[in-house]
Amino acid sequence: MIKTPMYFNVTYVKINICESCSNEFNDGAQCYVCKKYYDFGCAGITKRGFRNLGADRRAQWKCLQCKKVSFSPSPSRPSSEATPGGNSGGESATLDVILKEIREMKNLVTTVPSLIEDIKSIKVELIHLKESCEYNSSLVKSFHDQVSSLERGVSQIEKI
Ligand SMILES: [Zn+2]
Ligand SMILES: [Zn+2]
Repeated sequence: MIKTPMYFNVTYVKINICESCSNEFNDGAQCYVCKKYYDFGCAGITKRGFRNLGADRRAQWKCLQCKKVSFSPSPSRPSSEATPGGNSGGESATLDVILKEIREMKNLVTTVPSLIEDIKSIKVELIHLKESCEYNSSLVKSFHDQVSSLERGVSQIEKI
């Protein structure tokens, strides 16, 4: 009788067959487009590189074949968008509008700090203006005092 439990193989060793070279392997990459398995030799990526992609990008990894398919047919994309009555055109138009609005908002946000600086400098100028006004009014007051004391002097002279 075999003493090794049967589930050991099933649970812990995942054997896949490489789509490209038909080698059996237990650690490779699966393409999320065609769902085919590749060993790292045929996947066009190193084991370490694949690990470094992170869970999200690993889950969206494309094999070399699917990469070719998604990159090459750039001329077919505008033609599919140009089909009359297609929803894709409308969606991309609204997306453009949204992007444009986001850019405008971004521009507004970047002008806010300079606006705040402007307001600060205006405030400082107002304070200076107020100070000079107070100074002027005190000048006027002292001038007025001088004039009235002069008037008193003149009227006293007139009495003589
Ligand atoms: Zn292979
Ligand atoms: Zn693929």
